[in-house]
This record gives sequence, C-alpha cells and structure tokens, in this order.
Amino acid sequence: MTTGCPVCNGLTPIEETCPSCGALMEDCGSMADLSDPYGPYEEKRENIAGYTGDNLCLHFLQCPNCDESISHTVTGSNVI
Ligand SMILES: [Zn+2]
Ligand SMILES: [Zn+2]
Repeated sequence: MTTGCPVCNGLTPIEETCPSCGALMEDCGSMADLSDPYGPYEEKRENIAGYTGDNLCLHFLQCPNCDESISHTVTGSNVI
C-alpha cells in the first residue's frame, strides 16, 4: 500500500453524517476504485479525476437510510 489515505489503509473510519437525514454514511471506497470496476489495470488509477493527488483521496459515501450520496475528500496529512 502506497496510498497516504488513512481511510483506505483502515486507520481511520469516515464518520460523516447524511446531510438529508443525519444517519451515519457508509464508505463505499475511493472514487479511484469505483471508477474502475472492471479493469485490473493499475496504471489507469493515476489518470482518474477522482484520484486528486499525493495526500488526497476522494471517497464516495452513501446513506443506508435514504440513499443520499456525497463525495468526501480525505486528507492523508503525514500518515505513512
Ligand atoms: Zn482513501
Ligand atoms: Zn440519509
């Protein structure tokens, strides 16, 4: 694992609440993973818009209660 995202590394759970109903959102993974559901091509990850940079990781959150979905940018700061 070379990503700096603490969420992808399982270090920090995302605890965002739904803007519509206030339920705890479920983390559906990073945008980079979601955008490439069929291709096992590692190189493509760098070209995906959701994969924003060294220490940023864009996650897709979905509300299990009302199906609201939002994106959430995780900042990796200095986590290895
Ligand atoms: Zn991540
Ligand atoms: Zn909701």
